[in-house]
Amino acid sequence: MKILNANWWVKLLGLLPGELNPNEASWLLSPQQHMSLMGNRRAQMILNRVRLFASLFAVLTPLWVLVDLLLLPDPLSWQLASLRLLATGCFAMLVYCYRPEVSLLNAWRGMAMLFAVPTLFYVVSYVLLAKYQLHGVSAAVGTGYAFLPFILLAGFSIFPLTLFESVVFSAPILIAHVVAGYFQVPVVDWPSFWGAFWLQGLIAGVAALAGVCQLAFMIALVQQAVRDPLTGAFSRRSGEEVLELQFILAGRSGSPFSIAFLDIDHFKTVNDQYGHQQGDVVLRQFSHTIAQGLRKGDVLVRWGGEEFLLLLPNTDCRQSMHALQRLRRHGFGSRPDGTLLTASIGVADMQEEGCTDWRQLVEIADTRMYQAKQQGRNRIVANQEIKPVVMLGPTA
Ligand code: GH3
Ligand code: MG
Ligand code: MG
Repeated sequence: MKILNANWWVKLLGLLPGELNPNEASWLLSPQQHMSLMGNRRAQMILNRVRLFASLFAVLTPLWVLVDLLLLPDPLSWQLASLRLLATGCFAMLVYCYRPEVSLLNAWRGMAMLFAVPTLFYVVSYVLLAKYQLHGVSAAVGTGYAFLPFILLAGFSIFPLTLFESVVFSAPILIAHVVAGYFQVPVVDWPSFWGAFWLQGLIAGVAALAGVCQLAFMIALVQQAVRDPLTGAFSRRSGEEVLELQFILAGRSGSPFSIAFLDIDHFKTVNDQYGHQQGDVVLRQFSHTIAQGLRKGDVLVRWGGEEFLLLLPNTDCRQSMHALQRLRRHGFGSRPDGTLLTASIGVADMQEEGCTDWRQLVEIADTRMYQAKQQGRNRIVANQEIKPVVMLGPTA
């Protein structure tokens, strides 16, 4: 664990683009901690590339049928040709029939199907070829089949995968090589067999490195694209995307989901008295102090000007009130004159409000934030039946 925290290996390999912070470096190892937005974009990318790869295989696999029929003896040529047509059918089905909902699980499923077809093709063709002693051009055609695992392993380099995923996906292909060797035991040339295995291991390593590099750049780009440059919080557009995703997930799993609408009190006076630049400093400070107090999985969105939306998955109204009071204890920063910066906050809980659309939930939280303003600012307003209006403490 210490090794993972140190991230020395990432720095050592020079994989880490400047935009990736040390916490995000562990994202290169396994997908466990990827934020949902990242996971979704990566899943879309993987699914697109599965389709691209499958299309390529669907076109290239049957082209070799003629060579097999002309140069290999019967019935081997027919057997291999049928095998190729079967594999082509599988690839075509993958391209046309596999249109699942975008999720990482479905992306992995697509990859597993994509690579399972040629891996099985390789093992079966090897079993068939092992029965023949081929000579001349036929032997050359037969040897060509041994190259398939190399191509497959190199193919992983077009996917933005974590190191763990690369190992899991390339392992069956390396195992297939050993299985194929087992079928050839009486005639296998062990030095060249293990030489080929070593080379496949190297290619798998290089492909994993390529996948991790792609992922690192993808993380950096997604982080840049989804963040508001001034405050570092999620931008409104990506915030809406995350909100929709979390709303759907909470609805499906039945887990609680709350949001809080925060509006800085009398922010305009900061701009008016100290200038726009000082206003920006206050906004940045506000966002950073909140971000520091958040749990993993909580998301802060800059909804507009000096308005922020806090997304609290797996948190009901009561728990979110506690979280917000904890944030309040840390403070939201201070104004240029040293007085406390305060905010008016409206809280809404998806299940307690019975919302069917995330926009409804935002509207409720927004309305409650306005009620907090009307009631004197610097306070939280939640559903009156669940929790009475809670004062935030001393006014600024
Ligand atoms: P209230 O307590 O009622 O919320 O009052 P307020 O002054 O905070 O609210 P109001 O909506 O009157 O003013 C918000 C101000 O935020 C107006 C706008 O100029 C300023 N603002 C919006 N975006 C930015 C920004 O990016 N930087 C700075 N410095 N100011 C901004
Ligand atoms: Mg305001
Ligand atoms: Mg406002």
